[in-house]
Amino acid sequence: GNAILSSYGTTIFEVMSRLSEEHGAINLGQGFPDDRGPADVLEAASKALLEGWNQYPSMMGTPDLRQALAAHGKRFYGLDVDWKTEVMVTSGATEALTACLLGLINPGDEVVLFQPMYDSYLPIVRLAGGVPRFVSLKAPDWSFSRADLEAVFSPKTKLVLINDPLNPAAKVFSRAELELLAEFVQRFDAFAVCDEVYEHIVFDGRTHIPLMTLPGMRDRCLKIGSAGKTFSLTGWKVGYVTAAAHLLQPVAKAHQYITFTTAPNLQTAVAYGLGKEDAYFGGLASGLQGKRDRLAEGLRSVGFDVLPSAGTYFVVADVSPFGFDGDDEAFCRHLTAAAGVTAIPVGAFFVQDAPKTFIRFCFSKKDTILDEAVERLRRHF
Ligand code: PMP
Ligand code: GLN
Repeated sequence: GNAILSSYGTTIFEVMSRLSEEHGAINLGQGFPDDRGPADVLEAASKALLEGWNQYPSMMGTPDLRQALAAHGKRFYGLDVDWKTEVMVTSGATEALTACLLGLINPGDEVVLFQPMYDSYLPIVRLAGGVPRFVSLKAPDWSFSRADLEAVFSPKTKLVLINDPLNPAAKVFSRAELELLAEFVQRFDAFAVCDEVYEHIVFDGRTHIPLMTLPGMRDRCLKIGSAGKTFSLTGWKVGYVTAAAHLLQPVAKAHQYITFTTAPNLQTAVAYGLGKEDAYFGGLASGLQGKRDRLAEGLRSVGFDVLPSAGTYFVVADVSPFGFDGDDEAFCRHLTAAAGVTAIPVGAFFVQDAPKTFIRFCFSKKDTILDEAVERLRRHF
């Protein structure tokens, strides 16, 4: 096979989900909600499907969704977005990321990545011929410094890839951190690909700040979102990119040869969903915040050291109190088999200097499931 891809195994999410099934475990590993998603959005999809919206839509996305995305940018972030030239619909954020990286990177270009990072980033950077430069965020607050950026940015830097809110660390970047990053992006005349799939899942009164909204950053950022996260419909794989036309054009060149387009009935339903009332978006975050508290408290009561979670639907726990004699993946395999609860090793999000005692739990599950998971852990430890 391809020399780069053959160096990778099967993604950790697939591996742990299959292992979880084998053992009949509660799967708090792979991130996906176990509710049905908003009924009216489902209805909008089935209506569009039955009405016959089932042929190839425009490669840039259906006009209704592109207009809804422009309106969403204005409503939540005050962004002025031209729906005709500055938004593109993709088959999930995964394709948006791939199209951005393949569309923008030339061989030899340097790409700044923050560890921990989502598992699809590095393989695609490498396929594009990019040269990765890593900033390792430091637990428990996953912070970085000016010196960290000085060490990795150079005149060869083409772009930085940032995930905010950050999976798996559940960090939300502060305005000061974003300003620091923006300063470097501008100083080195680079771009930023901003994976903001958890933009509506931030807790404790925080607001999400797109890097794109900072001074001087409007035309340097490609902002990526996902209906999978915003509507708890991860299997839909409807993603989107917002960027200045001159940045979006090369990304569209990649998109047209990757998937070209995305199911039109789902796009129409997402267009409807993005127009939902404020209570929907607020309720998504507050509902998940309650689940975060429920699981975090349960994990603490069982003996885990639980790290703060400011956003996403994940919480990281330190397993060192249990004195396990192995790495985080071994711990997760053991936990699945012996306790019947599945988590994801945080080390899988690192390529170097991986921590060995952090595991990630997904709390976007019914309260009864979260309680049962904690009960199983209590029986085990
Ligand atoms: N980026 C991050 C940080 C994610 O957690 C996910 C979700 N699984 C994705 C991208 C992919 O999103 P999608 O399912 O829309 O492709
Ligand atoms: N983003 C989800 C997670 O982090 C899963 C995505 C996937 O399975 N590829 O768990």
